[in-house]
Amino acid sequence: MNQSLFFTLDTHYQDTAGLIAVHVIPHAQGLALIDCGPGVTLPVVLRALAARGYTPAHVTDVLLTHIHLDHAGAAGWWAQQGARIHVHPVGAPHLLNPEKLLASAQRLYGDAMDQLWGAFLPAPSERVLIHSDDEVFAIGGQEFRALYTPGHAEHHIAYLWQAVCFSGDVGGVRAGGLNHVRLPTPPPEVHFEKWRASIARLRAADFQFIAPTHFGVYAKDAHFDLLERSLDAIVKWLETEMPGEPSQEIFRRDFGALLEALARADGYTPEQMKIVEAAGGATVMSADGIYRYWKKYRAA
Ligand SMILES: [Zn+2]
Repeated sequence: MNQSLFFTLDTHYQDTAGLIAVHVIPHAQGLALIDCGPGVTLPVVLRALAARGYTPAHVTDVLLTHIHLDHAGAAGWWAQQGARIHVHPVGAPHLLNPEKLLASAQRLYGDAMDQLWGAFLPAPSERVLIHSDDEVFAIGGQEFRALYTPGHAEHHIAYLWQAVCFSGDVGGVRAGGLNHVRLPTPPPEVHFEKWRASIARLRAADFQFIAPTHFGVYAKDAHFDLLERSLDAIVKWLETEMPGEPSQEIFRRDFGALLEALARADGYTPEQMKIVEAAGGATVMSADGIYRYWKKYRAA
């Protein structure tokens, strides 16, 4: 792949390299960002752009894969600077009026909310652009395709550009360039059957490289193999764990042990496992997302 065609900024989220990426595509009129990181990492992103000779005015477009805070937190700020924000129609109202989104995040993160994520400003409506499924659109002479890809979140879009798929979270979490892919499964919209269908759809799509927001660029097929292996392992584990009707506490504990075993099986050192843990979000949150999925869709 011609790496000079796009580049990746590291937001150094929580002073850690390789957790949250902002992928950047230069085009005829400036720059398009794929996801923009949370509000709290905006100064790092601006410094990284400045180091390459860019000002905020160069950023014409921000393509959001979904509106979780680690991907979209800074979008309102960019919109207020004049950038167009691309988003799934279900995500758009939350960009215009973030109150509801922030209230539900506040319930998850409590007092740590501001320190963890920073400001999430509202976007002016005239700057928010929605895409239909499979829509092809152009930015500064570069062609993109938006693919609806639920499973991690209902309103998730993967963007295809040249030989690359910017997969947000539906392509899983892969930290440190290692051969292990973790499923980010926070509540409330995790749905494994939809996730599998999205993976199948992406596998069938025409691209060679996958660029998850967490983190890097990888060859397509081998990456999806790793992702599906993790998905299969979790579903198989659920089918043995859930008939025992574990409490949420026991479920969290056992799920943590499963994730650790999966990472160890892929050869992770304890040090590397800390990185994966941080990139994949808290184990407790991932456990709760899966527990909710089971109770809602599988228990009946
Ligand atoms: Zn997410």
